[in-house]
Amino acid sequence: MKKVYITRKIPEVGINMLKEKGYEIDINPKDRPITKKELIKALKKKPYDAVLTLLTDTIDAEVMNNASTVKIYANFAIGFNNLDIKEAKARSVVVTNTPSGGAERVAEHTWALILALTCRIIEGDLYMRKGKYHGWDPMLLHGDRLEGKTLGIIGTGRIGANVARKGKFGFGMKVIYYDVIRNEKLEAEDSATFCHTVEEVLKISDIVSIHVPLLDSTHHLMNAERLKMMKNTAYLINTSRGPVIDEFALVDALKKGIIKGAGLDVYEFEPKLTKGLAKLSNVVLTPHIASGTMEARLEMARVSAQNIIDCLEGRVPRNNVVI
Ligand code: NAD
Repeated sequence: MKKVYITRKIPEVGINMLKEKGYEIDINPKDRPITKKELIKALKKKPYDAVLTLLTDTIDAEVMNNASTVKIYANFAIGFNNLDIKEAKARSVVVTNTPSGGAERVAEHTWALILALTCRIIEGDLYMRKGKYHGWDPMLLHGDRLEGKTLGIIGTGRIGANVARKGKFGFGMKVIYYDVIRNEKLEAEDSATFCHTVEEVLKISDIVSIHVPLLDSTHHLMNAERLKMMKNTAYLINTSRGPVIDEFALVDALKKGIIKGAGLDVYEFEPKLTKGLAKLSNVVLTPHIASGTMEARLEMARVSAQNIIDCLEGRVPRNNVVI
């Protein structure tokens, strides 16, 4: 009987798909991310064939060495930076993700952050709740208009391209982008104009939104030097992965007015916030919920379970990321 370990409870639909195949399923009973030590201990108990992992799990050489029977790590996430792909490849272990799980919603959440900042929604809401509103005031809480302004996207894959289209056709913005691979579809639709460097995007944009995967090449893609290249009236949005931004440098830039504000759903030292970040009024912060709808979670459960089934039945799973 094939054995599957699931590192935290996911929607039943995925668990049932695996049970229907007759697999033996063990689920970490704790309602919190499993630690690496706990995971290794759990994986040593049985010769598991597959592990369904979450983005909060670190799957590195040490974990793989203690789970030599595992043929697939099926990540319940679009990103897969929590798994060491080189180590998996060296062991011929399959790693999959769930790319269809919530990309549209992440794009919508990106816009929610942009609008919260430019329309000053959080400050306005607090102002009302504190009973400070005593009548219309022409000088109260001025925001920023988006129409006619420039939106700069870094990384125009599924999410970045969706954000770009909404900016161009929904808000009448001029959209520019940088990606290591040119997005010809986006250009053909006249949705966005390609820039040859990140720097070019940073210098021109009124809003910069980041949508790259976390890789060695994108770690601290936004550092102190690059933050200084942005306009001091510009906003930085990040719904990709926290370590793509040097968060110490970001807090410093926000304090000094090097940029006007930031909207973040992900954090460099998640779940911890860099000192000073939560005290700033020019940031909007959400707890890594950009893809968080039940629809997305059900899809992610189905897709990660299907990836496991495909692998254990000898097929190449559709979402294999080990190339
Ligand atoms: P994708 O793979 O479709 O697109 C990523 C794009 O980034 C690609 O076009 C790629 O060419 C580009 N890229 C890679 N390296 C680059 C670099 N150095 N400079 C510029 N561009 C570069 O991925 P996606 O589905 O659009 O998702 C993007 C990221 O969003 C994921 O990797 C994940 O980490 C993150 N994400 C976050 C949430 C959330 O809840 N906040 C949810 C889903 C995904």
